[in-house]
Amino acid sequence: MGGVGYKVGMRAQELARECDRILETKKFYDYPGASNGLQVSHNKPVKKVGWAVDADMESIRKAGKEKVDFLVVHHGLFWGSSAIDRKIRAKRIREAKRLGVAIYSSHLPLDAHPELGNSIGLLRALGLGESKRKPFGVAMGKAIGWKVEGGRWKLRDLVNRVALLRCEPRPSRGSSFAGFATRVKIVAAGPVVCRKIGIVTGGFGDLDQVVKARLDTLITGEVDYPTEVKARELGINLILGGHRETEVFGVRDLSKKICAWRAI
Ligand SMILES: [Zn+2]
Repeated sequence: MGGVGYKVGMRAQELARECDRILETKKFYDYPGASNGLQVSHNKPVKKVGWAVDADMESIRKAGKEKVDFLVVHHGLFWGSSAIDRKIRAKRIREAKRLGVAIYSSHLPLDAHPELGNSIGLLRALGLGESKRKPFGVAMGKAIGWKVEGGRWKLRDLVNRVALLRCEPRPSRGSSFAGFATRVKIVAAGPVVCRKIGIVTGGFGDLDQVVKARLDTLITGEVDYPTEVKARELGINLILGGHRETEVFGVRDLSKKICAWRAI
């Protein structure tokens, strides 16, 4: 689990409705597994909100341990339908219910949101918040990312900025993050100075869209191997910062927002 906030006071269903309103969930088609909205509920007023990218067992248990009773996630419980998927799912749901953890999940709406979304969060974290941007990266009929242009960014600098996202400060390492940059995957097939950059979090590998938008660089979490090969041939830079690492922003910022209501 990523983090926690405090005391909201609404019931889980009511809070989930508010989240859906903020994220305009109804306006999105999503993949069948996404199942956006409240996935596990309870009847208590929510006292503590927490967030995690995935609704996996570890996050659910950590939420329980920290007395989080409303867990905001990006990848919910309903991905996959094999026998094993169903088994894992049933276990997670049982554990969430036992621990009194409601689970609210938002997939594409949380990627796309212009203020709280993953893609805008990543864009800002990379220091590109002031640049000219337009919606980019269509998934299920709607843009969930951004394209940035009007500047000149050294590929090397962009890679370093993405590498910093992956740094979790460790006291034993002091403040030095040396060596972490190697964990960002790069296909350096485009220009060394980037002028048109696409930013879409998670696993966005639609190079057709990248070519159509005439981008020279795509920053995303991960792509499959054939996409890397294709990018090399097309002369496009890929900066792959990690699926999870690029998708912490939405759950974090939505949680912050709903916790702040308490103070109003
Ligand atoms: Zn994802």
